[in-house]
Parts: sequence; structure tokens; C-alpha cells
Amino acid sequence: MAPLASSGTDQLRILLVEDDEQLGETLEQAFVLEQYAVDWLRGGEPVRAALSATPYDLMVLDLGLPGVPGMQVLRQLRADKHALPVLVLTARGTVADKVDGLDSGADDYLTKPFEMDELFARVRSLLRRGSVQRGTELQAAGVTLDPIERRVEFDGGELTLTAREYAILEILMRNAGRFVSRARLEEGIYRWGEEVGSNTVEVYISRLRKRLGGNAIETLRGVGYRIPQ
Ligand code: CA
Repeated sequence: MAPLASSGTDQLRILLVEDDEQLGETLEQAFVLEQYAVDWLRGGEPVRAALSATPYDLMVLDLGLPGVPGMQVLRQLRADKHALPVLVLTARGTVADKVDGLDSGADDYLTKPFEMDELFARVRSLLRRGSVQRGTELQAAGVTLDPIERRVEFDGGELTLTAREYAILEILMRNAGRFVSRARLEEGIYRWGEEVGSNTVEVYISRLRKRLGGNAIETLRGVGYRIPQ
């Protein structure tokens, strides 16, 4: 499956930080085959310079790095108020490590060894939610959504949504005026290896309608959902 096209003709650019030569090479080649542009760093030390020189759409970060550890790279990134989506790769798979990674600002987490297909699915999911327009305030159907602050305003007040309600709303708003398939919305809320039930998307759409009014999200049977522009 081809990655999501960006608004321009530029490829989506991934910053890969991995010290293992073999895995790094495998990942670099795989990303290139999937039509992503990729820059590979073998350690955490040059990350900050790379980020200030090049606009990336996503970072794939190994936690076990020599010198500056991955967790420190992550904390620095968030301390710098950098909104870049980060997918963390690590051999460590304990619950404590996952919680630590999430608390430090990771957007998703993959434990080695992993299947390439799963990595790509998670990368696509993060790029759909973030992508090139990350940071731009979105407005549609009376809703204002700030993707960095993850703040939603409707009818003159702030709306508190669950993570999944928010994820679905953000995808719909990034595609305002266009129908988005259920499969694509499912991919957007698929995280942490959770199973997505067959009616999961319907449940969240129905909850969002209750919050935003019945006409806020349109359904076209067999096609998907749309938030009018
Ligand atoms: Ca490593």
C-alpha cells in the first residue's frame, strides 16, 4: 500500500534513529521501497541538529542507543515543544517501559521483533493523524481543532473527548468535505496492538454526533463518513 500523499509532491520524510546496522539497513530499504524519504542516524546525538535542518513528518526512534539514550532524545524533543510524531522501537517490552515511553512523549510503541507490515500500518496511522499539516488549526462544521494542543472547540466551548473520539474527529477534519472509509478510521484508532471490533468506528461516530449534533457527520453507506466543510 502506498503511503499517504502529502499536500505537495514531496515525499513524506522519516528520520530513523537506530544504532543496529543490520536493522537500520533493513528499515531504511523498506521505507524507501514504500516510497518514503528516509534519513538514518546511528545515534541520538545528531537528532536535534537534523530536526532543525530538515522538516520531518515522523521519527522512528530506537530507545537503546549508545551515547544519548532514546528516552532522552524523546524528552528533549518534547521539551523543545516539537510536535513531530514519534514511533518508538525497543527490545524492552515491559509495561513500565511502555508507560515511560508514552509519558515521555512517544505517539506509538513497537517492541522488537516486529513485522514490517505492522510497522508500516503504525507509520501510516501516525502520518494520517499528523502529516505535513500538523500544527495547522482545522475548522469545519463549526468545530475548531488544534492538533498540537489536541484541543477541540465547538459551540463556544471546549469539548473534552476521549483519545479515540479525538483521533476519529481529527481524521475527518483533515479530510473535511471528503468521505473517509471506515477502514481508514479504524487504522487511525488502532494502537498498542488492540483489537478493533467490527462496530468500533460506528460507536465513536455515534458518540461524536451526540456531542456535535446529528448533522455534523454524514454517512454514505458503503463509502464512509464525512464532516461537511
Ligand atoms: Ca539499539
